[in-house]
Amino acid sequence: MAAQSKGERVFRGIAVSAGVCRGKTLVLHRARHIIARREIPDGEIVQEVTRFEQSLVQTRKQISEVQRKVVQNMGAKEADIFDAHLLMLEDRMLVDEVIKLIREQKANAEYAFHTVAQRYIEALAGVNDAYLRERAADMHDLNGRVLDNLLEVKDAFNLQHLAEPCILIGHDLSPSTTAQLDKKLVLGFATDIGGQTSHTAIIARSLGIPAVVGLKTISDELQSGDYALLDGYNGTLIINPTDQTLFEYGQLAKIRASLDEKLRAIQRQPAVTLDGKIIHLSANIEDQNDVESVILHGAEGVGLLRTEFLFINRDSLPGEEDQYKVYRQIAAALKPQPVIIRTLDLGGDKFASHLQLAKELNPFLGWRAIRFCLAQPELFRAQLRAILRASAESNVKMMYPMISGLDELNQANALVEKCKGELRAEKVPFDENLEIGVMIEIPSAALIADSLARRAKFFSSGTNDLIQYTLAADRTNERVSHLYEPTHPAIVRLIKTIVDAAHRNGIWAGVCGEIAGDPVLTQLLIGLGVDELSAAPTVIAPVKYIIRRLKLDEAKALAEFALQSESPTEILARCMELARAAAPSLFESKT
Ligand code: PEP
Ligand code: MG
Repeated sequence: MAAQSKGERVFRGIAVSAGVCRGKTLVLHRARHIIARREIPDGEIVQEVTRFEQSLVQTRKQISEVQRKVVQNMGAKEADIFDAHLLMLEDRMLVDEVIKLIREQKANAEYAFHTVAQRYIEALAGVNDAYLRERAADMHDLNGRVLDNLLEVKDAFNLQHLAEPCILIGHDLSPSTTAQLDKKLVLGFATDIGGQTSHTAIIARSLGIPAVVGLKTISDELQSGDYALLDGYNGTLIINPTDQTLFEYGQLAKIRASLDEKLRAIQRQPAVTLDGKIIHLSANIEDQNDVESVILHGAEGVGLLRTEFLFINRDSLPGEEDQYKVYRQIAAALKPQPVIIRTLDLGGDKFASHLQLAKELNPFLGWRAIRFCLAQPELFRAQLRAILRASAESNVKMMYPMISGLDELNQANALVEKCKGELRAEKVPFDENLEIGVMIEIPSAALIADSLARRAKFFSSGTNDLIQYTLAADRTNERVSHLYEPTHPAIVRLIKTIVDAAHRNGIWAGVCGEIAGDPVLTQLLIGLGVDELSAAPTVIAPVKYIIRRLKLDEAKALAEFALQSESPTEILARCMELARAAAPSLFESKT
């Protein structure tokens, strides 16, 4: 769209959450400190030592303040990390070493502190003890804070202190930070790294905040306070947009407004093709706060409740009762529409700080989801009991994530039976016929889909993971995002395998990965025989819009073409061509 012009800078990344916003940037990185060595005249040494000591006092105050806020907002455990920082600040050896350097080598305070801190960091990073190695990161953090104070750099990292609306720019945002963003103050965000299906991106979509990731070194290149325009449709961040660019985006806003009107008009209509094929269109949500959005956007219940978000961002594990209340509340609010509760999927890129899990080299291939739950039967039991109890509402279904083989399914089901037995004995009501489904998100599960289908009531393909595991392309890594291709023939064929196995065994097959919310791929998925699509509430309307303009026969022909094709780009191009022909207005905001 906008041409490069003087003053205007355009950065291109990966568009992960639709929408356009404008505002001042807030760069979430510690400003790079330029640590020059200066020789301090003899007469000013005492003053320099005092300056150093004052910076420590100031840093201590700031850390205590942050700690107090974290305790208040998130709980005592999350605030523990700051104890380590405070202890380091008070480490006499470290302080004395710095003062010695100032006095003996006439070094300026920032140079002296940085030199000593670096020595500590290197020593800590080199030891063979995971705990001490983590202290290197604490020291690094502390080094930044003290240098900020010595160099009078303002701390830009505290999201609690946002004074005005801004566009956040950072190296990365964790899913838990993203989940806590205040939509009124964070207009959008852009990060150096990340991918289309990282949980950070998924949450941005569910919050409806425009986001662009994979902008490489953006957080190093930009300053806070620049005026920017973030285009989450096309994946661009424009700094100092020219009048011409702003004008073009004004036109785009008009196009969007007219599309929004069309989408609103079908909100209460069913998701049915022109020739009468009904697709169940449901929503992916994180917690009870999303229920309103499910209803507002016209989704038919919930196809994926990511329960792990009840475990993240709090200071202790939610017990059976806490969970029961949330699940029941969601089920009751959406009755009679179904609510599919996915059992805990911690690990990968989602961690609960209070669980203190050891760092793994390959977290997506590691102790995650059902693997973690089966190894923590008490924790799993609490969740299963909570879901079973909520199933008394009668519209609850449950599914397991990351099933790789029959054993895991059998073990999980055995635990469910045990919980049912307990509840019966306690005379606690639950749905005896609770339907249990399996997420198919590991290639091994797709390849044994027939066996799984005989033991499940439905399938839901977690294509975010299925794609990453099949193509060996980390879903959060922008460097391999070019390999992360939903239209790769291997993926198309796997989806067909899954759907066919489900239908052969008399069960339905849905898709709840992010491709379910991409109107470009809707026709392909329907053509492959997918019965249900579950996507972020904010993208339900465009998917419904295109479904209502498709014909099943044409969708089947597209799927046939894709199953014969050897090229991801050829399949994508055909999908794109047909989607644009069926619903041109959906694509007018793309350049
Ligand atoms: C998926 O993998 O497609 C999925 C829906 O689950 P998650 O994104 O939470 O891993
Ligand atoms: Mg998954």
